[in-house]
Amino acid sequence: MLNTPLFSPELEEFRETVGEFIRDNLPEDIRRMVAAEQMDLPREAQARWHRILRAKGGWCCPSWPEQYGGPQWNDSQQYIFEQELALNDAPRLMIYGVGMLGPTLFKYGSKSQKESILPDILDANTFWCQGFSEPNSGSDLASLKCEAQRVGDEYIINGSKIWTSEAHIADWIFGLFRTSKGVRKQEGITFLMIDLSNSGITIDPLLLFEGTHEVNQVYFEDVRIPVENRVGNEGHGWEIGKYLLGLERFGTAEVSRTKASFERLRRIAHSEVPGGSRLIDTPSFAEQFDRLEIALHALEMTERRFLLEENTSKSLGAEASMLKVRGTEIQCDVLRLTAQTGAHYSQIDLPRDQIESDSTNPYSPGHTARNYFNYRKTPIYSGSNEIQRNIVAKAALGL
Ligand SMILES: Cc1cc2nc3c(=O)[nH]c(=O)nc-3n(C[C@H](O)[C@H](O)[C@H](O)COP(=O)(O)OP(=O)(O)OC[C@H]3O[C@@H](n4cnc5c(N)ncnc54)[C@H](O)[C@@H]3O)c2cc1C
Repeated sequence: MLNTPLFSPELEEFRETVGEFIRDNLPEDIRRMVAAEQMDLPREAQARWHRILRAKGGWCCPSWPEQYGGPQWNDSQQYIFEQELALNDAPRLMIYGVGMLGPTLFKYGSKSQKESILPDILDANTFWCQGFSEPNSGSDLASLKCEAQRVGDEYIINGSKIWTSEAHIADWIFGLFRTSKGVRKQEGITFLMIDLSNSGITIDPLLLFEGTHEVNQVYFEDVRIPVENRVGNEGHGWEIGKYLLGLERFGTAEVSRTKASFERLRRIAHSEVPGGSRLIDTPSFAEQFDRLEIALHALEMTERRFLLEENTSKSLGAEASMLKVRGTEIQCDVLRLTAQTGAHYSQIDLPRDQIESDSTNPYSPGHTARNYFNYRKTPIYSGSNEIQRNIVAKAALGL
């Protein structure tokens, strides 16, 4: 990998400390699943790793203030920690509870919501999912229709949410619901939290096209929830939802995850097959490989400049959109090139234990092909790349 400038000595020491802890404490079965780019990690595995980090001074919630049990790391420390997780094949942090709902409740939650909800996220007792998208409201999210009608001290929910990641392993869902039809479609939207064990809720799996079960459609039929489950005021959900989506600062480009994928590609490309030839010695392959390495390095430098050096405010706007577009393009390209190494890989003389553990072998042609197809989702989720390009174009044109 091209050399990346170092952080200050103190931050490099911090990197050493967190990296060493991850390497020493990450259970091997979980490491193998992540190294194989497996996205549908079982709840048990996620909770086990979360609790290991939890026991180490709240590292499972890097941005959380000490008063809520987190280490309250600054931006650079959080960035380095997420890098070390990725480079050491550790699972992603639990995005919905830890990265999204927790910080939203710090700002908008009532005292009793903070007291009752945050400890269960910290201890991985409660898994959350995010209910924003609907069958006809994805990019145009403000057109959402799933209705929450106020009756006395309750809301009665009717409608459906779609593409809900991890709803099948979650206990609760947070999301945006239509409480009235305002003049503008952004009005009349309210942020609610719903216990998924309520009667009237059905969760149907939607399989991604290489077969994994990550997303679902969630149906609500006369689901009754107490008014206390509302965050902020009725009709103010759009502002809260925008705040929540803006919290995702370090994850959008997935640079470190892609670096880990690229290192796997490098290992295949440099492995000799009987007779001594290597894929990296094929000029057409080497050219694609080098171009990707340079693009990934440039992306990393850009990400670091946007996030850390320019000291930009918490919400990045068009810069986050640029990182998301470029990051997902490069990620898909790395996995595409890896998927094309199957013929070469199958000629490599493998140690017997690697052949036997093929189901979790990140290099096997079956895995690399499935990963390539799975990651075709990345230009779509978190706001499609076309929508991100619109944001960049508007910023560039000053519109
Ligand atoms: C794997 C996966 C996980 C997801 N997880 C969640 C989740 O946990 N919670 C959740 O709420 N949602 C989730 N989503 C939903 C995701 O946010 C939406 O799929 C996304 O916002 C796009 O919306 P849509 O699917 O309705 O497509 P549409 O909005 O119908 O778009 C269809 C196509 O038209 C393009 N398009 C639309 N409008 C414009 C425009 N104005 N200009 C140019 N092009 C445009 C889009 O880019 C896209 O190519 C997930 C999606 C995926 C694929």
